[in-house]
Amino acid sequence: MDKCFFCKGSLENGMTNYMLDIDGHFIIIKNVPCHKCSQCGEVSYSGDTVAKIEKIVESLKKALTEVAIVDFVA
Ligand SMILES: [Zn+2]
Repeated sequence: MDKCFFCKGSLENGMTNYMLDIDGHFIIIKNVPCHKCSQCGEVSYSGDTVAKIEKIVESLKKALTEVAIVDFVA
């Protein structure tokens, strides 16, 4: 199991909502798998997850509304 980058606490698998602000447009991606530190609560993502987030954001940019809420799994 990985250790927290900040406090060296142990990381646990979890889910979180990823929020992003692009020029006043809010993108919320729900149910994103993450690693959460049991000590300080810091959240980190795997490389695969980051790549998929980037893909989702890229596809949303083409039809950006004021607030976009998508599911990570979808
Ligand atoms: Zn930590």
